[in-house]
Amino acid sequence: MSNLPALVTYMHDVIPIQSISSSPVSSGESVQRSLMHGVVLSDAMRRPMQDLRISVTDRCNLRCTYCMPREIFDQNHAFLPRSELLTLEEIVRVAASFVRLGVRKIRLTGGEPLMRRGIEQLVEKLSALRTNTGDAVDIAMTSNGVLLEARAQALKNAGLSRITVSLDALDEAIFQRMSDSHASVNSVLAGIAAAQRAGLPVKINMVVKRGVNDGEIMRMAEYFRNTGIVLRFVEYMDVGSTNGWVMDEVVPAREIVEMISARYPLVPLVASCTGEVASRWAYADGAGEIGQIASVTQVFCHECTRIRLSTDGKLYTCLFAEQSNADLRALLRGGRSDEDIGHAIENCWQNRTDRYSEIRNEVARLPRNKIEMSYIGG
Ligand code: SAM
Ligand code: SF4
Ligand code: SF4
Repeated sequence: MSNLPALVTYMHDVIPIQSISSSPVSSGESVQRSLMHGVVLSDAMRRPMQDLRISVTDRCNLRCTYCMPREIFDQNHAFLPRSELLTLEEIVRVAASFVRLGVRKIRLTGGEPLMRRGIEQLVEKLSALRTNTGDAVDIAMTSNGVLLEARAQALKNAGLSRITVSLDALDEAIFQRMSDSHASVNSVLAGIAAAQRAGLPVKINMVVKRGVNDGEIMRMAEYFRNTGIVLRFVEYMDVGSTNGWVMDEVVPAREIVEMISARYPLVPLVASCTGEVASRWAYADGAGEIGQIASVTQVFCHECTRIRLSTDGKLYTCLFAEQSNADLRALLRGGRSDEDIGHAIENCWQNRTDRYSEIRNEVARLPRNKIEMSYIGG
């Protein structure tokens, strides 16, 4: 049976775009704004620590071939036992330390964050945190959307600021091939529509693999035009050590923008904040915005403001790390003070020199044991 009728049905659920920001903030202004927030912890390359990504679970209900290939993440794979996960209280305590040190955005990710029991309570507690200047912290989530339909309103009520939903294709067979699952596109679209109804700003991440889902690019672009949803094309990355990444399967973001622009002219937009990794483009006809995350072909290490907390409480200062920079769970469970935790974070960030994507060509061929994205937090 064709999926098209269901897709068309959901099209009506997606709220039409109202207006698109026509006066983006310049990155200079954003730096100024970040300085006004009081604390700016800089690393060895003068990059501020602003964004915290928390992997709340290393488990997932999908097996995307580029992230958790089923041959590796099968029934014999040793996922973390419950006792090794940071508890929700431990996560909140660590997050509060990060916020005191200048973090203004927290993204809950994984694995699939909606598989973590109590995630709504976690959002509620995190959304009560305040920066040193009394501002609310931006609480975001990245989810595959499969379980989102029934949870979107509760997440919004708990204080979630925004959500990014990953969706690599509208064609059911391609979606199932990419996610190596029997999950349906319609379940994800229903989740997206529910998030919109709940009033959550929604972005879509589409990882593009040449020869697998590049034929879906135009269809996805057309589907999300005029919906108020920003579709972002993500270059397939060599994260982890199990996805068998080869450069030939990467579709450069520039190629995608050119392809879309040939049918729907695009105009570049300025980044909306420092540390924004996506380049933004607006449809010249006012139909909305798209983004590209070109971590392979247009690297952005020089403005990377992200730190990651793994499911079991280890800190990582780069997505391509081979080892952790600090074990916060050991400090938490060793009875250490908030001040000690703060010092460990400061130490970690101030010594940071990571720039993997800039030196990928030199180091990618060397034997490395990179941490998997599902554990470190995508
Ligand atoms: N399970 C959630 C999801 O898929 O949205 C959150 C975790 S996932 C690791 C976070 C993001 O990383 C997703 O948008 C996913 O598409 C992206 N991702 C995973 N592996 C990737 C890879 N090898 N290259 C590029 N993006 C990747
Ligand atoms: Fe799961 Fe997200 Fe990884 Fe896909 S990308 S396997 S949905 S964690
Ligand atoms: Fe940041 Fe590391 Fe990615 Fe560079 S390679 S942008 S330092 S996470």
